[in-house]
Amino acid sequence: MITSHMNGYVQEGSAQAANHRERAVDCPGDDTCLVKLPHCGAQMERIQHYQEELRKRRDEDGGRGKHDIDPSASLRLKKLSQNPKVGVDNPTFEGKEKAAKDIDELEEVLQAVKWVQQCLTDAQSQQDAELLLQLLAKDDFKCAYSIYAVVSQKMNRVNPTSPLTVQAQDLCLEVQKILKSSQQREGLELRALLTNPHLQALMQAHDSLAVQEMAEDNVIQYLGETVKMVRLQKTRDTPLGATVRNDMDSVVVSRVVKGGTAEQSGLLNEGDEILEINGTSVRGKHVNEVHDLLQQMHGTLTFLLIPSSQMKPAPHRQTVMHVRAYFDYDPSDDPFVPCRELGLSFQKGDILHVISQDDPNWWQAYRDGDEENQLLAGLIPGKNFQQQRETLKKTIPDKNQEPQGKRWYVKKGKKQKKKSASTLSKNTDADDLLTYEEMSLYHQPANRKRPVALIGPTNSGHDELRRRLLSVEPDKFAVAVPHTTRSPRLHERNGREYHFVSRIGFEADLAAGKFIESGEYEKNLYGTSTDSVRHVVNSGRICVLCLHTRSLRLLRSSNLKPFVIFIAPPSQERLRTLLATEGKSAKPEELKEVTEKAREMEQSFGPLFDATVVNMEPNEAFLELRRLIEKLDTEPQWVPTSWLC
Ligand code: 5GP
Repeated sequence: MITSHMNGYVQEGSAQAANHRERAVDCPGDDTCLVKLPHCGAQMERIQHYQEELRKRRDEDGGRGKHDIDPSASLRLKKLSQNPKVGVDNPTFEGKEKAAKDIDELEEVLQAVKWVQQCLTDAQSQQDAELLLQLLAKDDFKCAYSIYAVVSQKMNRVNPTSPLTVQAQDLCLEVQKILKSSQQREGLELRALLTNPHLQALMQAHDSLAVQEMAEDNVIQYLGETVKMVRLQKTRDTPLGATVRNDMDSVVVSRVVKGGTAEQSGLLNEGDEILEINGTSVRGKHVNEVHDLLQQMHGTLTFLLIPSSQMKPAPHRQTVMHVRAYFDYDPSDDPFVPCRELGLSFQKGDILHVISQDDPNWWQAYRDGDEENQLLAGLIPGKNFQQQRETLKKTIPDKNQEPQGKRWYVKKGKKQKKKSASTLSKNTDADDLLTYEEMSLYHQPANRKRPVALIGPTNSGHDELRRRLLSVEPDKFAVAVPHTTRSPRLHERNGREYHFVSRIGFEADLAAGKFIESGEYEKNLYGTSTDSVRHVVNSGRICVLCLHTRSLRLLRSSNLKPFVIFIAPPSQERLRTLLATEGKSAKPEELKEVTEKAREMEQSFGPLFDATVVNMEPNEAFLELRRLIEKLDTEPQWVPTSWLC
């Protein structure tokens, strides 16, 4: 093997990793996205060595190596190359048919001599022709000719190990029927043989194997090697979609990619050894050379293959898995991807449709929205494989990164002296979401609207947008009534402004995970419970929440199916103007803090946001917000599959 296999767990930056095992053959984007792999010196030496050996072997074989097959050298191969579908796999060399053919040939010669005799006028020629006719008519001569024909045929013929029929059982039954009336000794013996249960079982086994064999198009035996010839059409619209690797001096199909001709035709399989492509031998060639060769070839490609000896897995219906990615992936930056050209780049938050997990380390997928333009599926790291890499990365401390807990620390203004309830749960959502999350499409029912959570840093304008939604359509939008431990004021009623509860009761509910978010303000506890949100949902209205990112995890696990919209602040200059129109003046460092905080939020939680609204101009932002919320009624949205179980 040219490069080493990746055995599950990998070490980042290992020297071996730089060598990609596979080379895409005819995959779109070959030239653009690929930095051509350099031949590794040691590998090239090995290949040259094998090439040399192969050359020697050929010389010893008189210029014909075991695998160096010239289709023109064999009638069967020649026939096959002219029409691979024709039944050349089923030669009928045997029996009566053959004898009849020989007799026909003799008859033809006989007629020809008679015709010549008529044309000749002199007596001597007449006599010679007569002698010849007598010889040809002799039974001994006919017999000798038949023997010659059989022997010469046997000398040239290839062992027909391919099945001649898939109906051996039926044939046996037919023969038995014919023999029913036979009283001859041989007839009786043959009948006894054919009714023997062992022989019947043998015929049954033969037929089931023959069916499998015959399904393998164009499989023939040549010089003791099973060779398969397949033809595929290579066009710009339908690329082949396969990768090859070197195994000693062989070129082996390493991966068949969904969506390509190879996969769709079912003729090229993983593990098949390619001997020739359009008559050009590829044995001993480096995969890069094979890649280059295929780059130049177009139209019909004829592959001469040694089919993989491995049993083909039973074809099973692949179910597509939809995932949301929680990491950025760039194959050109990944030393482990087995074939860079086929790597699929994506970003955090992208929805990917995984169509094959046959290789648990490298899945085949399309990016949502790309299916139409992208013919071939791309390779993405499998979940477990990626998880191992992420775990490994986490064990290597990144000096440039702040400790996780610190990310949440934002100096509060005097008015906001709320003690963060997140001190009760230090972990962030980002800890759990390292790789992919399985997603499904969900269309909200008309009577159970998804709560809308607006998230953004202070002063990004999310509070104002919420207020506006509530005031414009109070029948459509509502807030969840919060809980508090403070005493009710004169005008306040329990269950309207707040649910007034005891501190002990609040803390018990908090410990039981009944709050989406909570905080402390002037020695009183405040919080929004999942039940309060559910109450709004059950009333048929849309619950609008303004939340901190730290509440996202609880909200996501609450089965409330929230739709999360990130309200991003505009540029610092624009933010300063907007705040000024509201009569607020902000110092440059405060403005900077808002944009910094927004960047942080997006970086850590971006994939959990279903949509983003940049609050450049409040009216436009409000319209955009309404549009997004209305879309929930008209279009299904991706949600974690776990929400629907
Ligand atoms: P008040 O007691 O004057 O009604 O509210 C005091 C503070 O508690 C305000 O800053 C208000 O925003 C905050 N508050 C009200 N409800 C909630 C809530 O459900 N959760 C949190 N974390 N704070 C709240």
